[in-house]
Amino acid sequence: MLNGNLKLAIQKNGRLTDKSLALLRNCGLEIEDYSERLIITARNYSLDILFLRDDDIPEYVNDGVADIGIVGEDVLYEKKCDVRILRKLGYGKCNLSIAAPEEKKISEFKQLKGLRIATSFPNLLTKFLSENKINADIVEISGSVEIAPSLGVADLIFDLVSTGNTLKFNKLKKSFDVYSFESVLIANKGIQLDQNKNIELNVLLSRIDSALNAKKSKYLMMNAPKDALNKIKEIVPSLSSPTILPLADENMIAVHAVIQSEQFWKIHQLLKDAGASGVLLLPIENIIL
Ligand code: AMP
Repeated sequence: MLNGNLKLAIQKNGRLTDKSLALLRNCGLEIEDYSERLIITARNYSLDILFLRDDDIPEYVNDGVADIGIVGEDVLYEKKCDVRILRKLGYGKCNLSIAAPEEKKISEFKQLKGLRIATSFPNLLTKFLSENKINADIVEISGSVEIAPSLGVADLIFDLVSTGNTLKFNKLKKSFDVYSFESVLIANKGIQLDQNKNIELNVLLSRIDSALNAKKSKYLMMNAPKDALNKIKEIVPSLSSPTILPLADENMIAVHAVIQSEQFWKIHQLLKDAGASGVLLLPIENIIL
């Protein structure tokens, strides 16, 4: 499709698909439901979204078929494609870990020596083993790696883990994490985008930054006695200049501030102890810095 639009490749039908579409929609892009289509053009942006197998995305970006792509770092590093990482996107988080049958206790790298390790990430496993000077056998399997120990094909596995439920189901236990990954936005390293695409990309990047910032932040609102303001400022991080509003009761004020989401549960009891009431925490759709 040579329409001059910026081309973004995302995973078709997988773990990253819905979150990638949600991120784009949070950036204000109108995207219809893709149901089985391979390419969709955003209604209000010069962007074509290509739905591809995630294993193929680094190469399509490397070849310039897509200008940018969203893919898990695991796929990117396993494929060893030389692309630029534009942004870390904060979803699709997982670890590439060594796991062993429940009865086997493996806690140190050196215990891997001489064992057979099943994986669909042979390049990353080779890298890890050689960096740690471990001599072990790599058994390359393209899917359902968890089943390899019970089939007697391997002693251990090297695979992606997020909740650990799949391991449990296969009577395996995580020994240790080797790599931590998340999804990333990538671009070609060598090809220069034309002027229009470059503008579209920069606007998209700044919208992605706003959407990611908004996701990490929450809007905190509370009522408090006027004389508790100094104490509240001490409790709430980065609350140097909160919004203070008068209330009908002249001894009371409303305090509003943007905080990092993860801070809330650390401070909420302290705020109550300081006299805050009606504490509300609201999601933020977008932050333009
Ligand atoms: P899928 O092919 O649909 O399983 O999606 C695979 C991508 O999702 C991987 O390349 C990872 O980047 C990411 N991911 C996040 N958690 C997991 C997990 N527990 N297992 C496999 N992939 C995961």
